[in-house]
Amino acid sequence: MSGPNERCVGDLRIQIDATLCVSFGDCVEAAPEAFALDDEGIVIFLSPERVERELLLTACDVCPVDALTVWDAHGTQLVP
Ligand code: SF4
Repeated sequence: MSGPNERCVGDLRIQIDATLCVSFGDCVEAAPEAFALDDEGIVIFLSPERVERELLLTACDVCPVDALTVWDAHGTQLVP
């Protein structure tokens, strides 16, 4: 099941831990189509499905506090 803080994109499952996000916006800078900051400066999903897989992985990986976790279809954790 995908809640508001989780998205499945292709073979990837991406989870946002909003309690960890410290609003640096590195992920938004890396993939502005995929992520944005809400009114409180916390990361939210935009349209991650519009972003190419490798860029999406990179954008999740740049988070300095590991607020973005990614698994593949086998449940293998790819990020962080
Ligand atoms: S890079 Fe990490 S801390 Fe920065 S906005 Fe994105 S999720 Fe939040």
